[in-house]
Amino acid sequence: RRGEDILSLNGRYYDMTANPVYDEDGTPCGAVILAVDITEKEKREKLRREFTANVSHELKTPLTSISGISDMLMNGIVAPEDIKGFAGDINKESARLITLVNDIIKLSELDEGAYSTETDEKVDLLKTAAVVKERLEAIAAKKNVKIAVTGEDAEITGGESLVFEMLYNLCDNAVKYNKENGNVTVSVGTSEGAPFVTVKDTGIGIPEDAIPHLFERFYRVDKARSRSTGGTGLGLAIVERIITLHGGFITVESELGHGSTFTVHLPLADGEE
Ligand code: ADP
Repeated sequence: RRGEDILSLNGRYYDMTANPVYDEDGTPCGAVILAVDITEKEKREKLRREFTANVSHELKTPLTSISGISDMLMNGIVAPEDIKGFAGDINKESARLITLVNDIIKLSELDEGAYSTETDEKVDLLKTAAVVKERLEAIAAKKNVKIAVTGEDAEITGGESLVFEMLYNLCDNAVKYNKENGNVTVSVGTSEGAPFVTVKDTGIGIPEDAIPHLFERFYRVDKARSRSTGGTGLGLAIVERIITLHGGFITVESELGHGSTFTVHLPLADGEE
């Protein structure tokens, strides 16, 4: 009889299909067995299931507090002087939800390849870094963190808004996970003709064992700290997807308690190789 099953062997998965072979009299005389290695597909499926479970959990937390607080307000059990504070909590949790949903949409668009047609613009990395600095300066000033952009012009072929988002997320983290009076230095340059951007901070640093997990969706070294600064745990996953889309890669160096350096390596602009 025909049979099909998924078998696992030494950490890999195989889709096995067996079919009988008959001779002229219709007597079974053998079998054809097909083994297809489906390990990558199984891994992707597992990641997708984990992502869905995480999304549901992350959405549920702010929604539960919004629902609880509005219930209290509706039932009139909140003292008038406390109403403003509770309304503020609803506002904060809603803002969290919006950021989270926006990040989820962005990631799924990147996964679906929605941006591949937008990646043929000329992007000046130094100029983009300067715009990011301008946008973050007010937030950085609250912690007295100084942002400096240095280096030389380097141009790549890519999506301007995507490159902006990638650098913004890296610099936003460099400010968020910094200390009072800290520094963020963004350096742009080329190494053997290939453009790179380095975002260096003098912040809290990252434990060595956490570094391999940084780009996983919803991974956070310190969940409470990330939450209190409005983090979603998706920023670096978005950063990595954008860099991959541009044919580049990212490296991380960090010293716990002293700071971290994220370096984005990008390929040459089209026509310059
Ligand atoms: P989040 O929204 O939590 O900031 P990210 O995906 O941007 O999510 O980053 C994942 C985690 O990596 C953060 O929660 C933080 O623990 C750590 N991290 C990222 N950038 C830095 C940095 N510059 N310094 C220290 N820790 C960082």
